[in-house]
Amino acid sequence: MTKRRGVAVLGSTGSVGTTALKVLARHRDRFEVNALTAFSNSGLLKEQTDAFKPKFAELVTNGGRDCLVKAATRADVDIVLNAVVGAAGLDATLAALEAGKRVALANKETLVMAGHLVRAAITRGGGEIVPVDSEHSAILQCMAGRGADDVRRVVLTASGGPFRDWEPERVLRATAAQALRHPTWQMGRKISVDSATLANKALEVIEAHYLFDLDFDRIDVVVHPQSVVHSFVEFVDGSVLAQVGAPSMELPVLYALTHPARVADAAMPAFDPVALSPLTFEPVKHDRFPALQLGIEAGRTGGAAPAVFNAANEQAVAVFLEGTIAFGEIASAIKAALDHLAGAIGDSRAALLSADAAARAFVKERFGC
Ligand code: NAD
Ligand code: MG
Repeated sequence: MTKRRGVAVLGSTGSVGTTALKVLARHRDRFEVNALTAFSNSGLLKEQTDAFKPKFAELVTNGGRDCLVKAATRADVDIVLNAVVGAAGLDATLAALEAGKRVALANKETLVMAGHLVRAAITRGGGEIVPVDSEHSAILQCMAGRGADDVRRVVLTASGGPFRDWEPERVLRATAAQALRHPTWQMGRKISVDSATLANKALEVIEAHYLFDLDFDRIDVVVHPQSVVHSFVEFVDGSVLAQVGAPSMELPVLYALTHPARVADAAMPAFDPVALSPLTFEPVKHDRFPALQLGIEAGRTGGAAPAVFNAANEQAVAVFLEGTIAFGEIASAIKAALDHLAGAIGDSRAALLSADAAARAFVKERFGC
């Protein structure tokens, strides 16, 4: 038997983290969980520690933010599954890549705020990123080793979120409880709100830009309410490939661990196209969901703009979840922060963190909190 690969799961108590441990429990012959980190749920972390007996397990609230980097750079860790939510995951991603590890990346905010730094860390350290996000996993699988030159464009699918059919006026006033009721995916609170505003799809467009080296003109979005087609790749000869399956993060997590290999997993559900039918596609209603275009524009602007977009969104979502602002104010807060700060310098980690902090402060001040 070949040596088992050591895995660190950062954010092990979250939606992706718990899914990852479920998958890893089925593949103990290949993978050994050597490190776990979580933010605050000590009860669940204890259960996970009892089940997997990792050599390192730490709560950020006890061990400080450093524990993510410690877990990510351990000698017995080959793969870092970064399932932390938000900009808090940045240093662990950079440190793991500098140390030559594979980062199985769910924490897309990392790549959005600091795509150039992530690329530089890969060049310096020899690490690699394999996406966990289902759309990007789909694209990676369809590309099957081909480069950007073979691709005419990619089309990311978006469920459209819970407000896809709502009248614009009603969307503006939607509550947190309504935003958290996602039609097809069970996810953490922040990404659920991002899916409702379509800010998540903006983050994913920027993520695709960095992962696959595609200009923004070659990345499109289509609404696909059933979330069965996980994305399309249209090649230069006009051929289009898609990766499909019932919405579940188990496959993208497993594939990020095993890429480019495929390993047998009998627990993955059999594909039933009739049960998943019909599949429909429709254009994005940009007037109802302005966060998507704002994020894509921030991606095109580059520099600190994507970091500002991301941080303003994180802060606005936090305030929205507290019940302080209306749903429609998330996008207007992002727009105001970008109008104010998009030109900030973003050429170093320090500059990006300062743009991130300025965007959060701007949104807090706007809402008087
Ligand atoms: P979640 O809120 O369910 O879990 C987040 C995890 O990160 C928890 O373990 C939490 O303890 C930890 N955490 C939170 N704040 C932290 C901090 N400041 N420092 C360190 N750890 C912290 O979120 P999730 O839905 O699992 O999403 C995680 C990431 O994966 C996000 O970037 C999200 O966009 C991405 N993602 C999620 C899904 C999904 O299906 N849930 C799909 C694709 C991508
Ligand atoms: Mg996704």
